[in-house]
Amino acid sequence: MFSYRHAFHAGNHADVLKHLVLIAILRHMTQKPAPLLVVDTHAGAGLYRLDGDYADTSGEARDGILKLAANPPENMAPALADYLENIRSFNRDGTIRLYPGSPFVTQALLRDEARDKLKLFEMHPTDSQALVAHVAQLEAGRQVTVTRADGFESLKALLPPPSRRALVLIDPSYEIKSDYAKVAACLQDSLKRFATGTYLVWYPIIPRHEAHDLPRRLKTQANQAGKPWLHATLAVGQRDEPHEPGEPARRPGLTASGMFVVNPPHTLKPTLAAALSQLLEVLGRGRGKAQSLESGG
Ligand code: SAM
Repeated sequence: MFSYRHAFHAGNHADVLKHLVLIAILRHMTQKPAPLLVVDTHAGAGLYRLDGDYADTSGEARDGILKLAANPPENMAPALADYLENIRSFNRDGTIRLYPGSPFVTQALLRDEARDKLKLFEMHPTDSQALVAHVAQLEAGRQVTVTRADGFESLKALLPPPSRRALVLIDPSYEIKSDYAKVAACLQDSLKRFATGTYLVWYPIIPRHEAHDLPRRLKTQANQAGKPWLHATLAVGQRDEPHEPGEPARRPGLTASGMFVVNPPHTLKPTLAAALSQLLEVLGRGRGKAQSLESGG
């Protein structure tokens, strides 16, 4: 059941999209003085070595963060620059060897521990152990908690938060196809418990009925709840070019993914528009490359 390990995928184009959107939203939400609760229902290991065995085998970061860092666009869109700076802050010597997962990307933007809290859930025995060890290095006190439990189920008890301000990242591996239905049920239930929370759902764009259907279902749910939404996608396209000499052959892998946000900050669409276009220019690699940004509600 738990064969998915995010370490193979850390820093790929899907992580770039996901963390770009996450950072842009957190930036906005931490402007207001009121306390903020962030819940990461599927947290992963928190920190990944890009020169370690997993990432080296897959090479996915080479088509993601490493490509962006090596080819920064001129006049970089502020949201993209902010994303890159967040990742670089974990790599002070200038070479990107470490990639922060969503827990670390998030914690870097939180304010003092009395104000903002981060609740992390991870089910995989090895990854949850690694997450605990990584989080301990942060010395973030009681600001960050890690629980080895089902994130979908655990979220219920946290909503609504006492502060009435929450950002929830729902980022399963979709290793089992029931995850698609669980995401939709989780959003439905969360909107009932706490209608004004900001919910971020990442999903893969793959030729599978459930994947295709998910953003449509989420849109319908947001519309029925009368809540605004934003939907961003990034397709890097098929790799046409042969790999570099000496570079190991790579599997085609995931070529596209999306982020669906309910109750986005009203500034999110213009903030992301420029960043997404630049991202596509840098990461787009062939047939099928495209990006989209739509909103409603
Ligand atoms: N959010 C992370 C990031 O952006 O760095 C990546 C998370 S990864 C895509 C999904 C993680 O969810 C995997 O580490 C997997 O072990 C874990 N997982 C799978 N089912 C889960 C569940 N029901 N509750 C919590 N974690 C789960």
